[in-house]
Amino acid sequence: MKEKYRFIIIFALLTAVFFLLISISRHNEKKKQIEELSEYLDNEEVAFALANNFKMEELRDFLDFDNFSIFYFRSYQRLKDDYNLTPLEAINLFHNPNFYSFYKNPKPALFLETPLVLVNKCYYLEEDFVPKGLVMIDNYDIPHYDRKGDEIQLKIATMDSLKLMIEEAKAKGHSLVVYSGYRSFEKQRYLYYEVYNENDDISARPGFSEHQTGYAVDISTSKAGLTYHLEKTEAYIWLKDNAHRFGFILRFPKGKEDLTGYQFEPWHFRYVGIHAEVIYQDQLTLEEYIIVNFQL
Ligand SMILES: [Zn+2]
Repeated sequence: MKEKYRFIIIFALLTAVFFLLISISRHNEKKKQIEELSEYLDNEEVAFALANNFKMEELRDFLDFDNFSIFYFRSYQRLKDDYNLTPLEAINLFHNPNFYSFYKNPKPALFLETPLVLVNKCYYLEEDFVPKGLVMIDNYDIPHYDRKGDEIQLKIATMDSLKLMIEEAKAKGHSLVVYSGYRSFEKQRYLYYEVYNENDDISARPGFSEHQTGYAVDISTSKAGLTYHLEKTEAYIWLKDNAHRFGFILRFPKGKEDLTGYQFEPWHFRYVGIHAEVIYQDQLTLEEYIIVNFQL
């Protein structure tokens, strides 16, 4: 009888110790979680995360980004899962819902005066914006289309790289001609309203053309000009597969019209510098590259 009681008491004690240890370990785990969250969040936000039982392993992928807000965590997760996005892409898209919605509450251009500058139907330039450091094509010995009183100008880095690219193309037997570069707001206004009759598929509204950045250039052969005949030429094939080595991307590729807002333009190239390599290899548009890699 006595033996039996002893056994029961020992068993009860062991059980109590077991549950005590579990409770201590849970307490420590929670303490660790609060400590980790506190590095990123204030007290109210930490309390919100705990109250909603957000899992640390799911949160960790998001916490590092400046635009992250714990209160929208479930929304980010839903976007990420529904559209197969990265955490940063989900945060960016949630806070910039019109990123791909043309002319719907457009925002000022991103990364102004850098090769990453984003000007499209969602990001615009002011009427008085003129890029710094424009240079004249006449000083560069680059074959180009001459318009009297309207000489082709580009940002200096764009012009330097363009010269190298056209020289190498020439060495490979392709004669390229530059048709246009920097375009002022005023000129774009004229083209959009007077020449293209407000056709948004082929022309940008004034302020929404990346030609105003000085980083965009229209290139073709003298025979094809700015027509789709260019696509059938050897020169285009070379350009398409080599432009990235000189920091240029084909800006309005086939099959991405819904992202860029423009019909395929085999002649329109955009200088993006070091970013060209990944954009080319991964077959991205500038829009996709930016939303995946940068905090907006
Ligand atoms: Zn163009």
